[in-house]
Amino acid sequence: MSPSSSVRVRVIHWFRRDFRISDNTALNAACAAGAEVIPVYVQSSWHRHHRWTGSVRQEFLCGCLRSLDGNLRTAGGRLIVRRGQADVELGRLIQETGATAVYFNRDPDPFGKEMEGRVARVCAELGVESLGFKDHFLHEFGEVRTGEGGPFRVYTPYGRVWRALPKALPGSVAVNLRTPAEVASLPLPELSSWGLAPSGAQPVEPGERAARERLRHALEGPLRSYGDDRNTPDGQSTSRLSQDLRFGLLSIREIYNRALAAREGSQTKTQRDSYDKFIGELAWREFYGSILAVWPEVLDLEFNPQWRGLPWGEADERFARWTRGETGFPIVDAGIRELLATGFMHNRVRMIVAMFLTKDLQIDWRHGEAWFMRHLVDAEIGSNNGGWQWSAGTGADAAPYFRIQNPWTQTKRYDPDGAYIRRWIPELKNVPGAVLATEPSPGLRMASKYPLPMVKHAEERDRVLAMFASHKERMVLV
Ligand SMILES: Cc1cc2nc3c(=O)[nH]c(=O)nc-3n(C[C@H](O)[C@H](O)[C@H](O)COP(=O)(O)OP(=O)(O)OC[C@H]3O[C@@H](n4cnc5c(N)ncnc54)[C@H](O)[C@@H]3O)c2cc1C
Repeated sequence: MSPSSSVRVRVIHWFRRDFRISDNTALNAACAAGAEVIPVYVQSSWHRHHRWTGSVRQEFLCGCLRSLDGNLRTAGGRLIVRRGQADVELGRLIQETGATAVYFNRDPDPFGKEMEGRVARVCAELGVESLGFKDHFLHEFGEVRTGEGGPFRVYTPYGRVWRALPKALPGSVAVNLRTPAEVASLPLPELSSWGLAPSGAQPVEPGERAARERLRHALEGPLRSYGDDRNTPDGQSTSRLSQDLRFGLLSIREIYNRALAAREGSQTKTQRDSYDKFIGELAWREFYGSILAVWPEVLDLEFNPQWRGLPWGEADERFARWTRGETGFPIVDAGIRELLATGFMHNRVRMIVAMFLTKDLQIDWRHGEAWFMRHLVDAEIGSNNGGWQWSAGTGADAAPYFRIQNPWTQTKRYDPDGAYIRRWIPELKNVPGAVLATEPSPGLRMASKYPLPMVKHAEERDRVLAMFASHKERMVLV
């Protein structure tokens, strides 16, 4: 299938969300083809129009592209930038350069897959190869199957099969790209080229080097006690690698194999269990990726058909308060403000914030999903949809709809001394933890500049339970 290694051919490597030169499956294959490699990134205008595009992720992307260009230069190449629709631009580049193949790593998302189909058609028309490689996941959805050969609908058995499958080892660092000097490139993209204004947020440092440093730090630090600490939102209790997986700054093979090695070198059971738990989270990512691949309709509809057509509320002024972090529920507001300030939110708080929107305010999970997509640097279509549907009680492995987290109890359990809340809500800097975790008596404020809770949790709990129950009844009658 691959071009003969005896002939010097030109191969295009199409960068999409795999912005690294280490263990990059398609890039290594392009180099191995004995080729001059033309690494290209096509900046699409899709982002400008889509409701999921936000400044902070595009800023991070620009940083990743700068870092990638630098790394490619050390490997004898450089990043060629084009702007437009990928299939059209790649077609042009093939004709300009006489490339004989387009290599790329497969994208797990429906939009990415659709573009791969179009690129394959253009390549076929021009008589060149297009080769997609598995790279983003350790196991793509077709590999993790039930006994009957079908896809899993729940995580626990999926995780068991996923763990038992043999896993690939990391590959090498790309060298000798030999990108031809005459290939023209646009300047590296800037935020303004998407028509976006700066976010003002301060995410972690972009690029492959910074991501590898994060991995080292996580393995030697937080992940050792991940089993016990991962639900603590203050400080770093988790790996903080989600944006690196999202943008492919590190390969999943490198992360998995290094976590496995750390597990094997563990001194204590606590450490071993912690690395195990972390590996289980990597499987969650692939589980949600497979749900999206098999049932792409989850982007519009509830995964569990029983809950389609629930009378969720619209994105009204209450939604606007939630997006500003002004609900009067300190743990919810701290999460939103962390996200606005950094492009990241801790997983435990994502659950609390999402459950608050769907259960306490009964607002459609799709509004929360889209807002997260705009503000998260790590926004990943499958994981985000999975997390939102889980929180709404409508998803795969759904928290049954009647299990509703109480934000005050959650605060007591996961931020008992209020350190996380005070970090993100300066108005509450003098309020003790016990007060932050207790629903204030009617009319009593926690601080003069901080709002009263916008709803009473107990009342909203009853209201949302009634909403689910009456929908269930209607479904039975129909
Ligand atoms: C409402 C909601 C929305 C979410 N949206 C996203 C999203 O857009 N992108 C995203 O990557 N994660 C999302 N998650 C999952 C999770 O919150 C983040 O992956 C995690 O907080 C990232 O921090 P970390 O890298 O320190 O994670 P760690 O705890 O260190 O986990 C390691 C890696 O495992 C994966 N992972 C961990 N937990 C989950 C999970 N529950 N589902 C899927 N993958 C997981 C991530 O790739 C993560 O980087 C969402 C969760 C919820 C409840």
